[in-house]
Amino acid sequence: MPDSSLDGSVALVTGASRGIGAVVAARLAKAGAKVGVNYLSSRDAAAEVVDSIKRRGGEAMLLEGNVSEETAAAAVVKQVVDEWGHVNILVNNAGINRDRLLMRMTSDDWDQVLDVDLKGAFLCTRHVIPHLIRQHSGRIINISSVVGISGNPGQANYAAAKAGLIGFTKAVAREVASRNVTVNALAPGYIATGMVEQLSEDTRQRILDRIPMGKFGTPEDVAEAVLFLCSQGAGYITGQVLTIDGGMIA
Ligand code: NAP
Repeated sequence: MPDSSLDGSVALVTGASRGIGAVVAARLAKAGAKVGVNYLSSRDAAAEVVDSIKRRGGEAMLLEGNVSEETAAAAVVKQVVDEWGHVNILVNNAGINRDRLLMRMTSDDWDQVLDVDLKGAFLCTRHVIPHLIRQHSGRIINISSVVGISGNPGQANYAAAKAGLIGFTKAVAREVASRNVTVNALAPGYIATGMVEQLSEDTRQRILDRIPMGKFGTPEDVAEAVLFLCSQGAGYITGQVLTIDGGMIA
């Protein structure tokens, strides 16, 4: 049976040129949403995400823009609303990491990660939220990380950004709950994207030993959780953090 649960919806997915964002964009499109595919520099990869959605009969739009810059974030949201008339769903997925032990971490390492992973979500949310409030409906899903809950050596900047995103989620959820807008965070564990695939066999095995399910997650695991949070059935869930980690930090 075709999945048309998001027919008529418009979604913006940041950082959708590859990895989790690309699969989230494709999944929302498969469910019937028109999808804005944002990217920073991987134009060809993002264009392929858009083309692949269109080949399957969906609607998608390519949106270049650095989410950590105010004018770019505003422009990305504006392009979506100008083209499709409204926006219902925002997935703040764009993220980077600059891993280093704290003793060696530079201010640049800190600023770059906080700028993209936390400020980027703030800017996109701030530009989307007036539309959701006016519509009296909407869904915001912030892609945090288990590292924002448990911490991880070598990732003080990333853990701070992802923990900040959880606090941000809970605060905004309270601000907009009366307008029927939900704001939730997903906290993936180790998901098999480029980052995990580049690890040495030894490191991969050490990580797998810490995951009760004994396997890495997939971008599809995250995309299904995004779809659930966008569904009618999740309409009374807000301010929550859902871990997707095979039981790692349970
Ligand atoms: P990825 O494969 O490295 O992809 C990152 C995406 O973010 C790319 O589309 C990239 O665009 C985009 N991006 C980076 N900086 C940007 C900026 N300033 N403005 C707009 N877009 C920007 O990452 P991933 O592994 O799929 O992770 C996606 C999200 O999940 C991130 O927030 C990450 O922290 C989180 N997460 C991942 C894992 C995991 O195991 N993979 C676990 C927990 C949480 P370009 O291609 O154009 O550079």
